[in-house]
Order: sequence, then C-alpha cells, then structure tokens
Amino acid sequence: MPDRMIDSRMNAVLMLRLSFVLSLSALLASLAGGCAASHHPTVQGRLGTPASSDDMLRVINEPGPIVFEKVLAAHWTVIRSGLINLDHPNAVAANLEDGDEPIEIYFYVLRHPKFGTFIVDSGVESGFRTPESSQHVSWLVGWAMKADQVDVQITTAEWLAAQPEPLAGVFITHLHMDHVMGLPDVPTGTPVYAGPGETEASQVLNAFTRGTIDRMLSTTSALNEWPFAEDPASRFAGVLDIFGDGSVWAIHVPGHTPGSTAFVVRTPQGPHLLVGDATHTRWGWENGVEPGSFSHNPPQSAVSLKTLLDLSAQVPEMKVHPGHQSLEDDSLASEF
Ligand SMILES: [Zn+2]
Repeated sequence: MPDRMIDSRMNAVLMLRLSFVLSLSALLASLAGGCAASHHPTVQGRLGTPASSDDMLRVINEPGPIVFEKVLAAHWTVIRSGLINLDHPNAVAANLEDGDEPIEIYFYVLRHPKFGTFIVDSGVESGFRTPESSQHVSWLVGWAMKADQVDVQITTAEWLAAQPEPLAGVFITHLHMDHVMGLPDVPTGTPVYAGPGETEASQVLNAFTRGTIDRMLSTTSALNEWPFAEDPASRFAGVLDIFGDGSVWAIHVPGHTPGSTAFVVRTPQGPHLLVGDATHTRWGWENGVEPGSFSHNPPQSAVSLKTLLDLSAQVPEMKVHPGHQSLEDDSLASEF
C-alpha cells in the first residue's frame, strides 16, 4: 500500500479518536457544568509593576540588557482548525482547509545581568522521551494530543543541566498543556508566573486535561499571578514592567485564555515580541487571523491579536515570535 494512503488512513483514525474524545469531554463538561483548567493554587505575584504602554514604547527601541535565546524543544503536529480560525474571511479567501499543521514547541531564555536566568514557557519534560512510561501524561491525553508524535529535540532537564546558574523563574504565556509540560523538570521551589484567571478558565476541553495539567504542576508551588492593571494609554488590557528597569514587559492579551500574556524583551540587538498563542502560526500572524477552536474566547482573542499587530507595526524593528512557528528560519539556531 502506498505510504500516502497509509498516512491518510492513519490521519482519519486519529481524527476519529480526537472527535470521540472531544464528544466525551463535552459530555463530561455538560454533566459537571463546565470545568476549571486546574485546581492548582494561585497567589498574587510580587514581580511586576503596572505601567502605561506609553512608558514601554518610550524605551522599546533602546538597546536593553537581556541576553535572549530561543530554544526549539520539540517538533509536533496538531489540527489546523485549532490553531487558525478557518471561518475568518482571510482564511476562507486563502482556501485554507483543516488538516495536520506541523508546529514547534519553543521556550525562550532571558538572562538578566542582575536578576538571573528566566524562561518563558517551559519546554518538554524528560517523560516525553518515552511518553508511554511518563507518570505525568495520562493515557487519555497522550492518546488525544498525539503525545507519541512529540519529536523531542531537547528536554528542559537536559537544557537545565548545561546552565551555569540556577533558574530564577518561569513565565508561562498561558496555562495550556503544551506550555506547562516542561515544569516537572524545573526544580521544586522555582517561582512560576502566569496571567490572572488562568486556573479558573472554564472550557469544555478542561474536563479531561485538568488532571494532567495538575500533575504537570505538582512540583510547582502556588502560581504567581501577574498583577495587571488597566493600561492608562488604553492600548492593551494591561502592561507590567517586570523588573522595574524597563528591560522586560508583560502584556495582558486575554482571549486564547483569560490570562494570556505576551512579552517584550529588550536586548542589546533590539526588541523581541513573544506573542504566546495570541497566534500560534506564521500564517495567522502575517494574515491577522486569530486562533481557532483551541481558544477560550475567540472574539476577544481577535481583539488582543490586533493590539499586538498594531504594536508590531509601530515598532517594525522588533523581532516577532508566534507561539508555535517562526517568522524567519531561526528555529534551529539559538540567538544571542
Ligand atoms: Zn500552545
């Protein structure tokens, strides 16, 4: 049998399995009246000072002190309709159809000369080298999310073992499985920061991901929530100067999840914008199309994506990093 025919049959089987699991989770969610994303405790984070986006824009193009590195943790494949709203007029005009979309799982390293080394998102834990024996990936989630297709390039433990200093903290762009699945490799006691309302987000899919997300967070102390406040300049839902020196900024971009957070990082070579899953894909960013079925509040996610596109248009020198694909061919190389 030709390989392509085998592939298409396997894809059909996987889509069938996924739709079965989604139906099951919808049933469970309707019985339970909706499910929180996690039972993990949260506290108000002490890092980050509410600021105006005007303050950020004033310094954004000045060389900053952060040594930045982008790490490709794994290659993966997921369904396009989760990543891109295929009903958006731009997607319809481009004849974009559903199917498998190759993506990457990244994390980003921020080395601050005074406050130490932080990562944005968490990569993949050692258990993904052998998902069938991982204690953290439940069989149901492993089956539905095609965990066996996570092609690991480097685990978070392998990366940490090569670091000259301990990790000072982890900034999670949002509390979805593919952004917390490196946390079991992070030393216990390392503070982890996330946007407000992430654990309470009620979504159908949570009915069966919550247990696994809780297990991924089991060695993490209470999540530190970013203390976002209204942006006086009204560009964003909230802006924080994380270290109080203008080097790294957190931007509240709710929609994909309630607490979704983007980051602006000022390096000696210029600014970087980490958008998280405000858009997963290169196509979504370049065509202004928000994520699809993976989002908690798609209309709100479209508004948030627009705020980031406007920022990028205002600062064209800034390098932009969509959540799961790269705009330039930089995914295999570290950047310093
Ligand atoms: Zn993601």
